[in-house]
Amino acid sequence: MDIIILLGAPGSGKGTLAQRLTQLAPSMRHLSSGDLLRDAVKSETPAGRQAKAAMDRGELVPDTLIGEMIRDFLAKADPSATYLLDGFPRTRPQADMLDAILRDSNATLRAAVLLDTPEDILLDRITGRRVCPACKTVYHVTTLQPATEGHCDTCNAPLIQRDDDKPETVKHRLAVYNETTAPLIDLYARRQKLITLPANGSADAIADAFLAALPPAVP
Ligand code: AMP
Repeated sequence: MDIIILLGAPGSGKGTLAQRLTQLAPSMRHLSSGDLLRDAVKSETPAGRQAKAAMDRGELVPDTLIGEMIRDFLAKADPSATYLLDGFPRTRPQADMLDAILRDSNATLRAAVLLDTPEDILLDRITGRRVCPACKTVYHVTTLQPATEGHCDTCNAPLIQRDDDKPETVKHRLAVYNETTAPLIDLYARRQKLITLPANGSADAIADAFLAALPPAVP
């Protein structure tokens, strides 16, 4: 198993890129920490109940809570696949937890890919984002519209706006990113794992640039 970390602020397009890559490269799988948490909140698991208040405020959930969810997920993951980690790690302790998970599962870190996006574009992307609550496909009110307005192309469910994508919470999430997650960029640069992609083009152009920049998997 190998891992590619997707780094970037909320709204930088990590989820959309992962979605596109899983269509282009069948060995790639999308693992979104936010989706894991939202599913746990919806199913009212103990972890979900613990995470909900922090998520509603746009703050991070405790490191051990999300770290254990990622570890449990990867313990059952397909050993021949490449996992695109979207949203994890987000803090230095989480990066250390990921190192331990990789060691324990004999997995390798292939790259940490930073989607570099100007802040005005981030705000527009997040507040215009709509998601399918059933299959998690991501849309945008102007740049990535479904065929039928307001409904998912895949399962026809009515699209929703995530509570934490509302403007009042978004500014706080960006501040949390700048303070807590952005330092991981230096960490992976020092380890010579960082690839930076300008992320203001189309989803297809970013996916192509990603695949062209990616080093081969370690056998
Ligand atoms: P996302 O879908 O990645 O934007 O995540 C939505 C929310 O889930 C975040 O604002 C956090 O509250 C929580 N979350 C997701 N991933 C993590 C993580 N790695 N560490 C802490 N909180 C997280």
